[in-house]
Amino acid sequence: MHDFKTLSVSESMSLLITDECINCDVCEPECPNEAITQGDEIYEINADLCTQCVGHYDEPQCQQVCPVDCILIDPNNPETETQLKAKYEKITASK
Ligand code: SF4
Ligand code: SF4
Repeated sequence: MHDFKTLSVSESMSLLITDECINCDVCEPECPNEAITQGDEIYEINADLCTQCVGHYDEPQCQQVCPVDCILIDPNNPETETQLKAKYEKITASK
């Protein structure tokens, strides 16, 4: 595991997993930023690490593979491409 404690971008949101998640495990290994982990009840996305796959892929990989389409962009907290790219650069710089 990498130590991401130095990141300070938690004011921005990313994708979120709804309670329709069936804990099928397929999204976790697809995430290039290791942003997806098993939570207490369902899988969770760490907003500090999710770039909506900007910097890695054209489409969010977790959304592509989720069999129940329970991974959504939080409509109340959209991030711009510029913000996502900045987050990507911060994450990769810390690796
Ligand atoms: S959109 Fe990409 S970076 Fe964000 S959680 Fe899904 S796979 Fe990971
Ligand atoms: S792919 Fe979808 S249903 Fe499966 S663990 Fe991830 S969020 Fe949950």
